[in-house]
Amino acid sequence: MKIRTLSYIRFLLLLSNAIFYGCAFGSVTVPTAKRGLLDLRQETFDEQVALNGEWEFYWQRLLRPNDRVDSPGVLVEFPFMWRNYVLNGKRLPGFGYASYRLTVLLPKKRKELRVSMPDAYTAYRLFVNGKQVAANGKVGTTPERFIPHWQYQAFDVDNNMDTLHLILQIANFVHNKGGIKKPIYIGEKTAVELGRQQSVAIDLILTGCLFMGGLFFLGLYLLGNRDKAILLFSLYSIVYCYRIIGIDNYVLHTIMPNLDWFITVRLEYTSLFLGIGLFGLYTRYLYPEDVSKKVVETISLMCFSFTAASIFLSPAFFTQLINPFLVIMLFCIVYTPYVYFKAYQKKRPGAVYALASSAAVMSVFTITLLHYWSFIPQMQGLSFIGYIGFFFLQSLVLSHKVSFELKKARQQAEQGLKAKSEFLSTMSHEIRTPLNSVIGLSHLLLRNDPREDQVKQFDVMLFSANHLLTIVNDILDYNKIEAGKVSFEHIDMDLAGIADNVIAGLKADAENKHIALNLEIDPDLREHVLGDPTRTFQVLSNLVHNAIKFTIKGSVSVSIKIISRTEKYLNLKMEVRDTGIGISAEDQKIIFQRFTQADSSTSRSFGGTGLGLAICKRILELQGATLHLISKEGEGSVFYFNQIFERSLNAVKQNNPDVLLPSPKEKPLQDIAILLVEDNPMNVLVAQNFLTAWGAVVDVAVNGQEALNAIDLNRHKLVLMDLQMPLMDGYESARTMRANGVTIPIIALTANLPDEIEEDVRQAGLNDVVTKPFLPDELFKKIMRCLSDNSADV
Ligand code: ADP
Repeated sequence: MKIRTLSYIRFLLLLSNAIFYGCAFGSVTVPTAKRGLLDLRQETFDEQVALNGEWEFYWQRLLRPNDRVDSPGVLVEFPFMWRNYVLNGKRLPGFGYASYRLTVLLPKKRKELRVSMPDAYTAYRLFVNGKQVAANGKVGTTPERFIPHWQYQAFDVDNNMDTLHLILQIANFVHNKGGIKKPIYIGEKTAVELGRQQSVAIDLILTGCLFMGGLFFLGLYLLGNRDKAILLFSLYSIVYCYRIIGIDNYVLHTIMPNLDWFITVRLEYTSLFLGIGLFGLYTRYLYPEDVSKKVVETISLMCFSFTAASIFLSPAFFTQLINPFLVIMLFCIVYTPYVYFKAYQKKRPGAVYALASSAAVMSVFTITLLHYWSFIPQMQGLSFIGYIGFFFLQSLVLSHKVSFELKKARQQAEQGLKAKSEFLSTMSHEIRTPLNSVIGLSHLLLRNDPREDQVKQFDVMLFSANHLLTIVNDILDYNKIEAGKVSFEHIDMDLAGIADNVIAGLKADAENKHIALNLEIDPDLREHVLGDPTRTFQVLSNLVHNAIKFTIKGSVSVSIKIISRTEKYLNLKMEVRDTGIGISAEDQKIIFQRFTQADSSTSRSFGGTGLGLAICKRILELQGATLHLISKEGEGSVFYFNQIFERSLNAVKQNNPDVLLPSPKEKPLQDIAILLVEDNPMNVLVAQNFLTAWGAVVDVAVNGQEALNAIDLNRHKLVLMDLQMPLMDGYESARTMRANGVTIPIIALTANLPDEIEEDVRQAGLNDVVTKPFLPDELFKKIMRCLSDNSADV
């Protein structure tokens, strides 16, 4: 703690040193007036000279150039503000009027000279050698005859004059201060003009930067990033830009010379009080953990009450508030860097920029204060750099904060997505198990000679259960694709054969709807290609299934055409065309997104989840192809894609020799003993019913351990092994059986998708996988294949 405080103090010391030396460096010694006379005859005017020193002062007199002056005025140190000045034993008030006199001697031979007049409190008139050369507002002896105004003025000095008699009349009936605070400068004309232009340019650039920056952050806040720090910083920037253009050089008053003093003075004080208040709150929302809420709220409250005072009270009152306010500002100069220092030490986002920015702004504030107390000149260039540095660094703080929050939000979104995906997977997985029983038992009921009226009901039940299964499978599949867990096979495939199978599988659906289902295969396509037959089948059958579903009359045509052929590759166009309801241009944009259907009535009239197309699209994309759609509402749709396949000269390996499901009277597994390892009684019931119907003898074990004890190599010809079971799972049980020399086929039963577990299944020595809910023909085919493979091996 001590070290931290020490380093903080060291940092402040360094800052004050830099400022002190900066001031000493910038200061110049100039001649000063003595007893109302300023002798500048030796001046070269390489630098501008302030007409400072002893001026004659006439209280409650507005001297005119030709007025006789019987007694000389008191000598005062110019620039001079009369409030609280003790004259003839009396303390002068702020309100009143007075004249100042000075005689300036100039060299006879000199450059062209120009005098620049600052603002005075709060109206003035300047005469040189009897002629009025500058004025602000209207000087008068009563409030009624007086008009305050603040504006930069400058005039050229006649080259023939070597003596200037200056009379400056000042009146004030509105401001707490009276008199003049800033020096009058005389200098070479071009230098004075250039100096003014530079000041104006700097102020305008800075105002533009702050204003645009403020608007940018305001836009950011309004358009969604509801971070209060951003809003407060934007308001602070906008409010504070008035301080740049509306005070000191009064650039705004030059651009709009008729601005009412009563408005501008309120704006000047309001922008200061409000600006600091907003900045305090901004710091509080930027680093809430590092700020004392009470301190900042007290300061902001004070600032806002000062703001209210400067809006509603008279200038004579609120202009007095500047002194107590300076105490607040001084506190801020120390407290803000302290907060940023704390934030920096705690490694808050962007705190390093905040710390650097506080150094920048604190130097500006310090320059402003030292200038206000007339210790140093305005040092506009340095302030400019400080301001730009401050606003730039603060913008970095906010940008850093925004990007940090975006990163956090993205991570949360990703986590949410992952959780959702996992939830969907788990749910789908869990649904598959009871579905197994429903589908299995429906099949069994259908085989057990049901009554005619029951057949229809069982059919509906089976259809619904199968439909539900498709949905569950789609969800699982889509999640897998999204999670990037899908891999594609690269094996021989017969595209024409796949298309045939798709048509064969959906023929009945088309016939039921009296729709023609055509297949056209390029006659040149006689060869095989390398690819993933399962996925190609899935895409085509999805498209054809949709086409039939959304066609009421007419036809659905599938075509596969060769686009080009090289020695190695075959570019094919696959197309599914229908004369169905079509898809509007608007819906075409959304139907490829998951869970999206053209309109909500679709699912009611045609069913579906809106996942099919999303899956097809992703499957094709992952293989480098794009799914296109041409459709017109009421006329039909064409879905097509071009896919490049590697050519294969091999014949397709017949993986699935067709095994037909036995008729109810046949007993192809007569007396074959099968060990069924399954913990779910429903699944046991379903499997047992099928197996016994085919003539098999079934022994049941409810976990992997029990299976190890129950297996009898002399009796059992096959094991059906569930993979997820209590005590010992199917993998371990199978592994142990293989290690113990069991060679009979072991078929896994799983609710997972086969390719998810393929590797584990292989390693555990299992021969094949049947997915739950198992369909009787799949179960039968796999059992038959395994048994025949095994007997062939023997
Ligand atoms: P599902 O068919 O399960 O609703 P899909 O992702 O396969 O989901 O299709 C999304 C939507 O696209 C469908 O609901 C339907 O509105 C529209 N659609 C798909 N294919 C066709 C088609 N051949 N004709 C008309 N509309 C279609």
